Amino acid sequence: MKIITLDLSEFGGREKCMVRDILNAYLAPGKNRTKVFSGITTIAFNLYSGTVVAVDEWDFSAIVVDGELHDLFQCHECGQEGITEDFDTSTKCCSKYFKKVTES
Ligand SMILES: [Zn+2]
Repeated sequence: MKIITLDLSEFGGREKCMVRDILNAYLAPGKNRTKVFSGITTIAFNLYSGTVVAVDEWDFSAIVVDGELHDLFQCHECGQEGITEDFDTSTKCCSKYFKKVTES
């Protein structure tokens, strides 16, 4: 069973509203707070978590929080996920990952 879909016909009403929010934040001046995300290549819906994210060609993703588009970080080692403001870098793996992606 697939986890991610890019097919808008599989998105529900809630997810389509999230797509609209992503595009609104992406296009509105001052609402794009991303630093590593370089632009929407596609919008993906995670069928397990219910999350809708914008994804760029480098596999960086972004989500909307309070009407603003933010980088979504996910540690490749432990799976911790979060935006800049709430990403916990107290563990070694997360600290190393966060430093690597935000300095590149
Ligand atoms: Zn980690």
